[in-house]
Amino acid sequence: MSIPRLRFAPSPTGYLHIGGARTAIFNWLLARKLGGKFLLRIEDTDKSRSKKEYEDDILDAMQWLNIVPDEELLRQSNQGSFYREVVDALIQRGAAYRDFVSPEETEMLKAESIKSGVQVAFRGIHRDMNQETSDRLVETGEPYAVRFKIPDESVVFQDGVHGKVEVPPDSIEDFVIMRRDFTPTYQVAVVSDDFLMGITHVIRGDDHISNTPKQTLIYKAMGWEPPEFIHVPLILGPDKKRLSKRHGASAVTEYRDKGYQPEAIFNFLALLGWSPGDDRENMTPEEMIEAFSIKGINPKSAVFDEKKLEWMNGEYLSRLPDEVLIKQLRPVIAEKVISGELPKGCGSMLPVAVKLIKSRARVPLDIIDRNLYFFKEPETLDPKAAKKRLKDPETPERLEELARRFDALSDFNEETTDEVLRTYAEELEVGSGKLIHPTRLAVTGIGGGPGLYDVLIALGKEKVINRMKWLADLLREKGTPPNLS
Ligand code: GLU
Repeated sequence: MSIPRLRFAPSPTGYLHIGGARTAIFNWLLARKLGGKFLLRIEDTDKSRSKKEYEDDILDAMQWLNIVPDEELLRQSNQGSFYREVVDALIQRGAAYRDFVSPEETEMLKAESIKSGVQVAFRGIHRDMNQETSDRLVETGEPYAVRFKIPDESVVFQDGVHGKVEVPPDSIEDFVIMRRDFTPTYQVAVVSDDFLMGITHVIRGDDHISNTPKQTLIYKAMGWEPPEFIHVPLILGPDKKRLSKRHGASAVTEYRDKGYQPEAIFNFLALLGWSPGDDRENMTPEEMIEAFSIKGINPKSAVFDEKKLEWMNGEYLSRLPDEVLIKQLRPVIAEKVISGELPKGCGSMLPVAVKLIKSRARVPLDIIDRNLYFFKEPETLDPKAAKKRLKDPETPERLEELARRFDALSDFNEETTDEVLRTYAEELEVGSGKLIHPTRLAVTGIGGGPGLYDVLIALGKEKVINRMKWLADLLREKGTPPNLS
C-alpha cells in the first residue's frame, strides 16, 4: 500500500485565519495518524488577489503552530505548462472542448436559456464541434476557452463526513477549465496537483463540496484515482453565521501577537469540530494524533467560542515557567514607562506579578493590563465592587485603624498581617470580610485577584498603608458606598 499523503492548499489571498488553520491541523493530524506525509501547496493562480505578504503570513503561522510540511512546498504559479498538458489531454480524450464563443455572447446565451425556462445547467454550443473544425479555428488564431463536457450520468463520490454524495448531471454546467488567456481554472489546477503530489486524502471545508463533483469528473476522464474526500462543516460564530472577521475572529498571527500560546491554539482548533470520543479537553499533539479519526469529525458545524479559547490559553499559560513570561512582558512594561502610562522603576514588580497572576491570566498581557495595581497606585475603583463592599459607614475609620496596626508591625509578612486583621475583626465583632474586601479595594482598586495577603506582601508596607489612607479619604469625600459618577 502506498504511503498516505495529505495536503493543505491555501490561497494566499488573505492571512491564515482560524478556519484555514483548523483545516491544516486536521490534515496534519490525519497524516501523522496514518503514518503519512503532510504537504503544503500555495494556490496562487489568481494573480490579482494573491500577495506575497499573505503567503509569508500563512507560512509564519504554520511554523508558529508547528505544523510544518514534510516536503518542499509546491507553488501553483510554477506549474503552468503541466496544467496545459492536462487540459490538452482532456480535449484529446473528448472530455473537454474548445469554446470559441466570446464571454459577452456566452452571458447572453445563458440569460436566454434561463428566460426560456431550460432546466439543464449551461452547455456550450461548441461541445459537439468536430475536432478538425476546432483545430482549424485554433490555427486561424480564434480565441477560445476550454470547457469540461459534462457526461450524461450522475456523479457519485463518497465523503468521509457526509457519506455518499450524488449529483445529477444537469445541475453541473460545462465548467471552464482553461480561460481564454490560457490560465487554468481552480478545478483543473487542484486535480492536476493533487494527482502529481500523490494526494490520497483531501480534508477541506464544506465550502468546497460543490467543487468535488467537477473534480471527480476530471479524475475519471484522466483515468486517475481520486483521493478520499473529507469535507468538514464550516466554523460558525456565536450568532450561527459563518465565522468571519465580524465576529472578531482573526488571523492566527494576530492571536500570536496578542500573546496566545501556539499549543493552546492548536489544541483548541483541533477540538473545533472534532472530538476524541471522550471529554478530554487538554491534549498534547501526540494524544491528538493517537485519538484522531475521520469518524470523530462532527457532521454539524462547530461554533467558535472565544471564551473557551481564552480559558484554554490560560491553562497553557499557567504551565509556562515564570522566566518565559517575564522575558515576554519586559518590553511591554518598558514601552508603558516610556509612554508615561506607568512610573519609572515599576518593572521590579514584574516577577511577583507573574508569580501571583500567571494561573489566573488568559493572555500574558492580562498580567499587566488587568493588574495595574502592581505597577502603579490605583486611581479609580471598580464601581460594582465598590458599591457592594464599601457600604458600611465605619469603613474609613476601620481602614485607618488597620493601616495603623499594619504600620506598627516590625515584620510585615503573611502571618503577621493576617493575624492583625483577624484580631481587629474580632475586636469589632465583625466577620473578617468586612476588613478584607475594603483593604483589597484600597490596594488594588478592583474586586478580585490573588490572595489578599500575597498582594499586601508583594506591594510592601508603605504602599499598602498609603493606599488604605487614600481609600479612607476618598470614602469620606464620596460617601459609603462612594458616589463614583
Ligand atoms: N485553495 C483553496 C482555498 O484556499 C483550497 C482548495 C482545496 O483544498 O482543494 O480555499
